Amino acid sequence: MATDLSQQQEILQLPSDQDSSGRDLGDDEIVNLVAAIESGTLTSTKGTFVKQLEERFAEQLGANRVYACSSGTAALHTALSAIDPEPGDEVVTTSITDMGALTPILYQSAIPVFADVDPKTYNLTAESIESVLSPRTRAIMVTHLFGNPARMGEIMELARSKNIPVIEDCAQAFGAKVDGVPVGTLGDIGCFSLQQGKHITTGEGGLVSTNNEDYARRMFLFINKAWGYGDSNPDHYFLALNYRMNELAGAVAVAQLEKLGEFVQRRKEIAAKLNQGLEGIDGLETPHVDAEMEATYWKYCLRIDSSAFEGGMDELAKQLRERNIFCAPRYIQKPAFECQVIRDQRTFGNSRFPFNLARPEAVDYSRDKFPGTYDALASVLVLPLNERYTSAHVQYVVDSIREVAIKLQKEKS
Ligand SMILES: *Cc1c(COP(=O)(O)O)cnc(C)c1O
Repeated sequence: MATDLSQQQEILQLPSDQDSSGRDLGDDEIVNLVAAIESGTLTSTKGTFVKQLEERFAEQLGANRVYACSSGTAALHTALSAIDPEPGDEVVTTSITDMGALTPILYQSAIPVFADVDPKTYNLTAESIESVLSPRTRAIMVTHLFGNPARMGEIMELARSKNIPVIEDCAQAFGAKVDGVPVGTLGDIGCFSLQQGKHITTGEGGLVSTNNEDYARRMFLFINKAWGYGDSNPDHYFLALNYRMNELAGAVAVAQLEKLGEFVQRRKEIAAKLNQGLEGIDGLETPHVDAEMEATYWKYCLRIDSSAFEGGMDELAKQLRERNIFCAPRYIQKPAFECQVIRDQRTFGNSRFPFNLARPEAVDYSRDKFPGTYDALASVLVLPLNERYTSAHVQYVVDSIREVAIKLQKEKS
């Protein structure tokens, strides 16, 4: 607390998505929860809320099929199970993502092959994906990081030309669009998360979407231990888990879904105000969003030129945190492939499976193959953004960043 606050500005408490200050959970959720509990039916195989959630989300998204499941990680696992890779097949993915997007690849016996990201959008590009494709590539997993869509037009053109299915990881991108079309319907399968900190929440939860009936069938089965519910002669058809969402989560999710449009709108408005307020500060760039994209700002990322500030991005972040702006320099700190599970191939017993099946090139994480990734992590400052920010909160964030940045700006020589 020793740092002097030049203007002696009052320190505000910003709404947080980790508690009621920044989450809209109230009467609507409670009414549904009470109904679920009073019904006595808490499993989605017999209840009504999870079914409602699936139908309404499919309608909102414009997808033929939606299934709910227990987490975003489960959603991604379910998507991969539909594609059903052979052991040792490759799934192209990104070096900057949540581990919940990577471990499902390994559990389905496939090799995550990392493509580099664009250091300005933090997303994969068609070029970076193309450079790591191999005859063993079985799927491409595209993450719309921080709610900013990847360039799906070019990516889908590449994928279609090679006949490779695309899974969209929309965990951070509810409501985002490319040329007016929602993410989650641009590729072959879309995956969403309802974890505590996402746009809408049930604490934990996930959703998958698709227009492909074969994938839909396999995903429904995978979530349900591959038991053929409704079939005349049901059986457990293949290896699968119980990834069902329960009715309590479904009850909350149905109410949350009603508010999604409003949350997305607020997030866009707040980001536009931040962009406006933070324009023209040397060494600091506001988010890079292509003209055809509608980003929905799960977080608000600044690109910082550390050499422009005394103490670099870390000092800037430290002083913002002293003002209760809990920003995170470098997001996940290091590329995903530097985590022990992947770097040291800690999987099943001592087998290293499925890494033991990998082409050496597919698991070569040499630094010079990932210039965009290292640049992105060295320059990204992730700021929280919440739909419950008032205009006073937005102004406080803008003023704080301006003040700290200008104070730390190095004299130009
Ligand atoms: C949150 C998240 C996940 C995992 O979702 P969980 O619900 O936490 O399992 C996967 N990918 C991305 C990009 C995420 O942000």
